[in-house]
Amino acid sequence: MNTYLYDYGDKLYINLTNKCSNACVFCVRNMSEGVGGNNLWLQKEPSSEEIIEELKNRDLSGYTEFVFCGFGEPLFAFDKIVEIGGFLRKAGKKVRLNTNGQADLIVGRNAAERLEDAVDTVSISLNASDAKKYNEICECAYGEDGFFSMLRFAKECVGRVKRVIFSVVNTIGEDEIKRCEKIAADIGAEFRVRKYDVYASR
Ligand code: SF4
Repeated sequence: MNTYLYDYGDKLYINLTNKCSNACVFCVRNMSEGVGGNNLWLQKEPSSEEIIEELKNRDLSGYTEFVFCGFGEPLFAFDKIVEIGGFLRKAGKKVRLNTNGQADLIVGRNAAERLEDAVDTVSISLNASDAKKYNEICECAYGEDGFFSMLRFAKECVGRVKRVIFSVVNTIGEDEIKRCEKIAADIGAEFRVRKYDVYASR
């Protein structure tokens, strides 16, 4: 069974792909088959038309936010984010993208521009204060370039997307959290420390 949409709290999550360029040590995929009783491994990736059809058939009024985030990196389904996010925003809904931020490596250079009308919030996993530490935690397929790509994307999103949030998990230590907070402040992004649990990666 392919779970493309799932409830978590008062939000609706959209699971588009299992592909990812990272292999983070804290990834929920290492600990579980899914979230909230939903198996999030996909046998088949959905089309944007399928998702939009499912959304049209649901009562969306109770959800406070719609979040692109599942068992993989949503940027690998970038065109679908643009289409589905555009549909939701035209319907007056709040939309967030949770991402590792390696947009120019995964999508190409103009990703932030194309997201302007598709999302309200981009939440980017900063994870560490430098490329070496990042790669130790995230084991990125692009090596240390992954870290710099993520920083470039965050800078490009600031001023284009309403909210840009950098996040870290709370296990990296106080000093490292402070260094990450400074990176966020320098870029003009909000900063959030996520509690480490089965859902820490999201
Ligand atoms: S936490 Fe996110 S970026 Fe890291 S491996 Fe899992 S899906 Fe990929």
